[in-house]
Amino acid sequence: MSYDVAIVGAGIVGAACAASLSASGLRVLVLESNDIATGTTAAGMGHIVLMDDSEAQLALTGYSRKLWNEFAGELPPEAEYEHCGTIWVAADEEEMLEVRRKQSVYTEHGSDAVILDAQSLRAVEPKLREGLAGGLLVKDDSVVYQLCATRFLLDRSVRYGAKVRTGVRAVKISDDGVTLEDGEVIAAGVTINAAGTAAGELSPELKIVKRKGHLAITERYPNFVRHQLIELSYLKSAHGSDSESVAFNIQPRRTGQILLGSSRQFGIESDEIDFDILRQMTGRAFEYMPNLKMLSIVRVWTGFRPATPDNLPYIGKIAGYENTYAACGHEGLGITTSLGTAELLTSAILGRKPAIPIEPYLPSRTITEH
Ligand SMILES: Cc1cc2nc3c(=O)[nH]c(=O)nc-3n(C[C@H](O)[C@H](O)[C@H](O)COP(=O)(O)OP(=O)(O)OC[C@H]3O[C@@H](n4cnc5c(N)ncnc54)[C@H](O)[C@@H]3O)c2cc1C
Repeated sequence: MSYDVAIVGAGIVGAACAASLSASGLRVLVLESNDIATGTTAAGMGHIVLMDDSEAQLALTGYSRKLWNEFAGELPPEAEYEHCGTIWVAADEEEMLEVRRKQSVYTEHGSDAVILDAQSLRAVEPKLREGLAGGLLVKDDSVVYQLCATRFLLDRSVRYGAKVRTGVRAVKISDDGVTLEDGEVIAAGVTINAAGTAAGELSPELKIVKRKGHLAITERYPNFVRHQLIELSYLKSAHGSDSESVAFNIQPRRTGQILLGSSRQFGIESDEIDFDILRQMTGRAFEYMPNLKMLSIVRVWTGFRPATPDNLPYIGKIAGYENTYAACGHEGLGITTSLGTAELLTSAILGRKPAIPIEPYLPSRTITEH
């Protein structure tokens, strides 16, 4: 049996590619060494967020967020899609300058972004401490339970005729297809590397490093918080090259639970909980929302973001190949950008005009390290 497309990896990115390509009439096979959504996708926060670290990031997150908002009506209730919006919280007047800059960029991009002064911030999120300067409410951002969304995307691809094989590890990908660990060779017209943090093992030309993160989830406290709340300094943490950083970043879940993040660490292989980082992370959150101290955390976990040197994912043909493509390296935005990635790749494979230019994400781009 041969396929039009073989996708290695059944995280949210591979699943989104499978759904898009099979809906376009291609015969798709998804190969997963473990089980569906057990890699980084299992560890993420599910925040669908517009980000403007670079023009290319703004274009991809904006396009992807639009696709999520269109897709929302089709998601099942267990995908817990919530249009809760994000508030970027400014601690002082200096951060309010960034609020104003961001508001102007977002508005120019057609996104509904409203500046909140100190009083309005406390009115919409009364549990935040007094004395914060204000914030930026980005209304079109949302939250999804990414594990169910991944399952839904894969189920959809299966309805279009795709096959999904779990427990099979790819050891080689090439223009002719995929070779599995047991020697089986699967012929495919096109091969896609969506192997997350392991993508570089199959395609050494893709530079991907692991960036560890911690998350914690509380018991149920309905209405404790209503928006995804992130401190503006998060941007320094997310895009800086410090080997360790934490930021206040919390998310209300439909269950009433609160997801609490986030941390970033480079150069760590162990997936064990680092209690020092966890203390720093919760301590940072208590600075913004002191009453969080009263809540019970029921679970803490870690995950590894697949990071690239310029903070942009690899989407498109891998240099030196005719039919081998990359869909990986999405760092802390892969849930958000999965749908946009899939549409861009489908357009590239089918020779259609993409909705946004694909060039900034091509694996062959000149990469300037951040
Ligand atoms: C703490 C944390 C918080 C995050 N929060 C957010 C957020 O709020 N919003 C957001 O947009 N993103 C967030 N992210 C990032 C997001 O989770 C990732 O970018 C995204 O899940 C990556 O998906 P993926 O499909 O590329 O990778 P993965 O989910 O890792 O999938 C890759 C799959 O490939 C399989 N695989 C690997 N090698 C092979 C092989 N050789 N053969 C077969 N299969 C193989 C793996 O088993 C895995 O299942 C967060 C990440 C972390 C760690």
